Amino acid sequence: MSRVLVIGAGGVGSVAVHKMAMNADIFSSITLASRRREKCDAIAASVLERTGVSVETAALDADDVAATTALIEAVKPRLVVNLALPYQDLNIMEACLAAGVNYLDTANYEPRDEAKFEYRWQWAYQDRFREAGLMALLGSGFDPGVTSVFATYTKKHLLDRIDTLDILDCNGGDTGLPFATNFNPEINLREVTAPSRHWENGAWVEGPALAQKQVFDFDQVGPRNMYLMYHEELESLVKFYPEIKRIRFWMTFGDSYLKHLDVLQNVGLTRIDPVMFEGREIVPIQFLKALLPEPASLGPLTRGKTNIGTIASGTKDGARKTVYINNICDHEAAYAETGNQAVSYTTGVPAMIGAALMVTGQWKGEGVFNMEQLDPDPFTDMLNQHGLPWQIHDLDAPLAF
Ligand code: NDP
Repeated sequence: MSRVLVIGAGGVGSVAVHKMAMNADIFSSITLASRRREKCDAIAASVLERTGVSVETAALDADDVAATTALIEAVKPRLVVNLALPYQDLNIMEACLAAGVNYLDTANYEPRDEAKFEYRWQWAYQDRFREAGLMALLGSGFDPGVTSVFATYTKKHLLDRIDTLDILDCNGGDTGLPFATNFNPEINLREVTAPSRHWENGAWVEGPALAQKQVFDFDQVGPRNMYLMYHEELESLVKFYPEIKRIRFWMTFGDSYLKHLDVLQNVGLTRIDPVMFEGREIVPIQFLKALLPEPASLGPLTRGKTNIGTIASGTKDGARKTVYINNICDHEAAYAETGNQAVSYTTGVPAMIGAALMVTGQWKGEGVFNMEQLDPDPFTDMLNQHGLPWQIHDLDAPLAF
């Protein structure tokens, strides 16, 4: 029985809090804090209606370390679950250290003026968390998160050696809107407009954004174009699995999404550096975010499925073997259960599971941890029990190229 403080009342925070409330035997008390308290109150009302559980709410600017520390000290949680934006990660980690509380997030820290997607800022907290006897768990979403757990599961149970690993992220959902991002628009656009990068034979290989594609036939979605991209779990997979010769990340995009993205980029609306407008500085991508739909508003509109997984090839008992592990999640089913579409669902459920494993002590340690460092079995069991069932398929060969 444990008290948790969740920070961030977006789509992911909403799913995580709903799922925590559905597991009241693990989470005895939930407080949800975010920049706008009314968003926390709306989620609390939905949770009460769906589960009968009351969630405490609070207004918080998590960029303010002193205010965050004070809230943690007042709530006295066992764990702080950070589901705000990557910009807040270091401030919330600081507040956790000041208040002596464990930490979990789903996305690595990013400075506002650089789209780098690097763990180094958070890995630098290793000694401070270890010396304080606290645990920080990084990247407990789907990707990063479940994809790293699938790789760890593959290594533990399915292959003796992994030679190549491909992560395939397909959102086959359709909102009916001309252009919308399925998680925070600012973070999403920073990610997809960054140069592609993958790991091959001991070095990073960089290329232009979204320049390399191939068609993959996704179960229950159909054939889709998927594009080579950089994604943050590549860095931790490279660190913890130096044996893997090639690690890549692929994400599907429809032609209409890419056409809009092209135009937005060409006119400068995805820029992350400030420009002067009517005598004041504005950051174009932040202005664009204000115009685009909030991910949490897409729930009732989205139809179709996500299909995300890993294809690993290597050897088992001396023979070549390729295994594909994936989860398929239905947008409408996710919405019916939690009021949020599947991209928020597939992130919020793993956040709840990581939190459950930490507060029950099944995952424990002192210092800063990535998902690859922890036993995959309790996590994969909970995925099956809490709405994200996964399957293993044997494939004849690794991904085409
Ligand atoms: P949203 O933009 O929907 O939600 C973010 C929430 O954080 C909003 O409620 C926002 O408040 C709040 N927030 C922002 N700044 C602050 C602040 N300074 N203090 C307090 N609260 C703040 O994003 P999502 O729910 O889609 O995503 C949440 C996180 O999950 C992001 O970090 C995202 O990168 C990550 N993610 C991870 C994935 C994975 O698989 N690992 C996949 C998808 C997302 P307000 O409403 O007032 O703006």
